[in-house]
Amino acid sequence: MNIHEYQGKEILRKYGVSVPKGKVAFTVDEAVEAAKALGTEVCVVKAQIHAGGRGKAGGVKVAKNLDEVRTYAQELLGKTLVTHQTGPEGKEVKRLLIEEGCDIQKEYYVGLVLDRASSRVVLMASEEGGTEIEEVAAKTPEKIFKETIDPAVGLLPFQARRIAFNINIPAKLVNQAVKFMMGLYQVFVEKDCSIAEINPLVVTGDGKVMALDAKLNFDSNGLYRQQDILEYRDLDEEDPKEVEASKYDLSYVALDGNIGCMVNGAGLAMATMDIIKYYGGDPANFLDVGGGATEEKVTEAFKIILSDEKVKGIFVNIFGGIMKCDVIAAGVVAATKQVGLDIPLVVRLEGTNVELGKKILNESGLKIVAAESMADGAQKIVELVS
Ligand code: ADP
Ligand code: MG
Repeated sequence: MNIHEYQGKEILRKYGVSVPKGKVAFTVDEAVEAAKALGTEVCVVKAQIHAGGRGKAGGVKVAKNLDEVRTYAQELLGKTLVTHQTGPEGKEVKRLLIEEGCDIQKEYYVGLVLDRASSRVVLMASEEGGTEIEEVAAKTPEKIFKETIDPAVGLLPFQARRIAFNINIPAKLVNQAVKFMMGLYQVFVEKDCSIAEINPLVVTGDGKVMALDAKLNFDSNGLYRQQDILEYRDLDEEDPKEVEASKYDLSYVALDGNIGCMVNGAGLAMATMDIIKYYGGDPANFLDVGGGATEEKVTEAFKIILSDEKVKGIFVNIFGGIMKCDVIAAGVVAATKQVGLDIPLVVRLEGTNVELGKKILNESGLKIVAAESMADGAQKIVELVS
């Protein structure tokens, strides 16, 4: 799960990680009030969307007085911001962070991520922080320093100090930077983060080390024990189909193609998307209905696929193990009774209760194209939608 920058900064503040003063605003008037309350000469108006790259896209504006705050707030609220992370459709700005202007002396990068290769959390940092970090990583990877963290002891101060020296934090500020990184690591572990990225971390003219941006992502499997994080969830930032799917505990990810997929098991779902691609088609979603899904859950899953206007055909690919083929068939029939079906449907069923499943589908009167195998089904649906 993703949260907004201002929410991330609230969390960091609680852990003693320095961030500038700031306040969220939902309207132009609130933005001006927030700026007044800050009382600083310069303040920054920052679009709050679940995507980075805002600076380059005009989503971060420096205002020298309250009139400018008003102008920028008017300009940004309601605007669709397209950054290199939003995709071409962009994201509508509904919230702003009004923050004190910071006298930046130098911008650094500090991030914590889970490294799957070593199965450990890795602290990464660079002297070349700011909006070009992707380029630094691609062209001059040697400018990025890493420390692998042993989960038994956590981030050790000497590791943080080594990073601080490697990225040339001014000697006088090394202790502050170490405290910063230790605090960030504590947030990462205690809040079940999957990413905690500060870009830029800055050194200011008056000798402070601060997080000017904050990107915190959370492992959704840990959210059951992170009630305070769940409250930060902003459904406006999520795909409505994915929100609906999460209500029924379905693993659903919306994609750009036109073939809806209903599959059980994450591995088979991945393989199904691959084989659709292989035969020249494009999947509209990843969907794993899971092992012990009920008919109701299958019905909702099928309705979510049907609600996607991009979907021009559906491929149901089920290998019944714990999941029974008749439950899937009953769910498909129930969903189409409720919302209708006027696009091609290819079904491949195999495994537990397959005969019963086929019987339910055959007797439903639905126009179904039966597939003999996964490859056969993929070929048929690709042909039918093209
Ligand atoms: P993004 O990563 O989405 O582009 P950032 O929050 O990193 O957004 O802001 C982009 C740039 O804007 C920063 O690298 C920094 O130079 C500048 N900036 C952001 N916040 C402030 C602030 N409070 N004071 C001064 N400059 C800022
Ligand atoms: Mg940034």
